[in-house]
Amino acid sequence: MRKIGIYVQVPFCQTKCTYCNFHTGVVASSRFAPYVEAVCGEIRGHRELLKAAGVGRAGGFTGKAHSQEWPWHEPAVDTVYVGGGTPSLLDPAFLQNMLDAIRATFLGELREVTLEADPETVEARKAGAWVAAGINRVSFGLQSFVDKELVAAGRMHRRADIYRAVPILRAAGIQNISFDLIAGLPHQTRESWRQSLDKLIALAPEHVSVYLLEIDEGSRLGAELLGGGMKYSAGAVPSEDEMAEFYEMAQESLGAEGYHHYEISNWAKPGFESKHNLKYWRREPYLGFGAGAHSFSGTERWANAHDAAAYVAAVQGGRLPVEQHETLTAESALEEELFLGLRQLDGIDLGRIEREYGVRLTGRFDPLASAGLVQLEGSMVRLAPERLSVSNEVFVELMR
Ligand code: SF4
Repeated sequence: MRKIGIYVQVPFCQTKCTYCNFHTGVVASSRFAPYVEAVCGEIRGHRELLKAAGVGRAGGFTGKAHSQEWPWHEPAVDTVYVGGGTPSLLDPAFLQNMLDAIRATFLGELREVTLEADPETVEARKAGAWVAAGINRVSFGLQSFVDKELVAAGRMHRRADIYRAVPILRAAGIQNISFDLIAGLPHQTRESWRQSLDKLIALAPEHVSVYLLEIDEGSRLGAELLGGGMKYSAGAVPSEDEMAEFYEMAQESLGAEGYHHYEISNWAKPGFESKHNLKYWRREPYLGFGAGAHSFSGTERWANAHDAAAYVAAVQGGRLPVEQHETLTAESALEEELFLGLRQLDGIDLGRIEREYGVRLTGRFDPLASAGLVQLEGSMVRLAPERLSVSNEVFVELMR
């Protein structure tokens, strides 16, 4: 039976980064314990909570790939991802409690347990406790190695914190570290991006994620870029063409160092691809716990309320505050297959999709292939590796 992934959301941060469009907040540390207790309660009681919230009625996990028993029999779990927010802010005992609740509730061996961490929160005592709790992968929010960029972005850490934290993690026994970089931060130049890439490569992480700055109303920097102003250095944000160039520099440098580019934003040393995140792109089932956490059963998607206080109050009251709940139509499932599948550099097998969905897709990609945006090989279609920085054009075209 295919194993599911579990995502745990910790929506707390020390400050709010200027580019951040996540539902995270800066709260008193006294709110951590009740939150963790609520998450453990949700994990242990999820079957009853979901049933009461009306989730799972569509059958879920149907189709040959999934167990027919979902959701009222426990699926086995093999990956856990504790994200946020800044979950490394929590006392490690809280992380241990949540992982213990998962082990006590679900079958299966946890093969990949990822913790998102920010460099300034790493201490030897904590790192030792993370490993003892079963965490074997750390996803590190570095974003840049250039202090001027980190300051402008409102990050808490500086380059020196990265050099302090990485040896602590290695000494604690973490053998799988992922680094995040953002292309497009204020004050970033070709030279400073080159510096960040070189310094990242010198630290030899097993996995790298490179994200382009997202520009939308949801962050203070995004709002300033769209609406004007000078407070968050919007005037110093690189152009779209520069961001595309930075992305291509990352592609070239990471490829030359033996990193496998397996998803638009992700590179890994062989064997270190994120097992958990691959489930998202492959449309495999996962459960999310905590405020704002999303879940997918194969036929339904749902999400908890974002507000952490409302979430805690609801779980304490024996209710699950499901804010969004959608039973997928065949059309939306097909769209997901295309959009999520094409994010993976291996591409998608149109023959499989045509068989499963009873549609004809083959001709649909011909204009994109003629424009050099995708490659067709037998029944496989994939984004053209040298045109990935403009992959949005493919997605826009597919939406027509
Ligand atoms: S640390 Fe991450 S989640 Fe928290 S404010 Fe910054 S970008 Fe957002």
